[in-house]
Amino acid sequence: MTDAAPVTMPAYTPEEWTAHVVGLGGKPFHARIVREQVFGQGVLDYAAMTSLPTALREALAETAPILSSREVDRSTARDRTTKLLLGFPRGDGDEATVETVYIPPRRADSPKGATLCVSSQVGCPVACPFCASGRLGLVRNLEAHEIIEQYVRGRAIGPLSRSVVMGIGEPLLNLDHLVRALDVVHDEMGIGARKITVSTVGFPARLRRAAEANPRFQLAISLHTPFDDQRDELVPAMKGTQIDEVIAAADHWFDVTGREVTYEYVLLGGTNDTPDHARALARRLAGKRCTVNLIPYNPVQGDAYHRPAPDDVEGFRAALEQAGCVATVRWSRGMDSDAACGQLRVRHAAG
Ligand code: SAH
Repeated sequence: MTDAAPVTMPAYTPEEWTAHVVGLGGKPFHARIVREQVFGQGVLDYAAMTSLPTALREALAETAPILSSREVDRSTARDRTTKLLLGFPRGDGDEATVETVYIPPRRADSPKGATLCVSSQVGCPVACPFCASGRLGLVRNLEAHEIIEQYVRGRAIGPLSRSVVMGIGEPLLNLDHLVRALDVVHDEMGIGARKITVSTVGFPARLRRAAEANPRFQLAISLHTPFDDQRDELVPAMKGTQIDEVIAAADHWFDVTGREVTYEYVLLGGTNDTPDHARALARRLAGKRCTVNLIPYNPVQGDAYHRPAPDDVEGFRAALEQAGCVATVRWSRGMDSDAACGQLRVRHAAG
């Protein structure tokens, strides 16, 4: 909490929060009510917390705003996927924007809550040529409370059952803040470790360090190709890091945590979807307990890739299965409002 910006409620640890509320004349149970209302229910305004004394509500509103971001934009796709563009203050008067996507269950009458896709950084330094998020490079890391705030905003839309850290940014480059935020998501929003997935390009040394701490999330590694020279091109920030090292670090994760790894593979028509790719990928993953998640490419304006035909996607999946890999296909949601994987971007918001 060294920010110059006002300290918001999600920036307090539970202990600090109790001290703050008591300092304002409240009781420890008032502190718990606020956390339950904000994290458990997505209440965004102290005025709505009618079980608190009026004077305390007013004092809290003055001293610890619930949100530091503003909702710059909101768009809802035909499949009800809702994309929020959030602007965080930057201190220099400018605004740092990230996108957060609320993905409801496919069936409107499902009893399940939504999946929330959150961003870990403002911009992204990885610069994958098929992804919109890295177009402007990295602006800055998100603070833990800014990551939490995305969840609070998501919960304000509706109940959440799962979360994927697959928005803008590379989570392993901001892991301390992310882990602090996920502690709140886990402990106070009730989303279990098996329902939180963090997706990374898999910096081996960072991944090994992360595994030792046994963090409470599932790991997904964006591999995209079994060939080293092509991965240098498709995942530029990993240039020079051998795929073998990435897979060895993922094996270490499995050994230490006991949790299986998912390999993500954006399917780019004519680029990484040949039978050679399927065979070489299966060879690399032979005998491992893991899943390959194929993501048919979602179009990003101005790039040269195309989405393979559904039959080709299925053909690639079947080839992997035949070679002994477990492979699934993820057809992204929210495509008609640019809320699908790879379509999120930093926008320069005016005013
Ligand atoms: N930096 C992290 C997390 C963000 S991306 C990572 O790379 O894993 C989350 C997933 O969306 C990654 O697997 C990424 O490769 C994929 N993705 C990016 N652009 C895409 C696109 N245009 N179409 C489909 N998936 C895409």
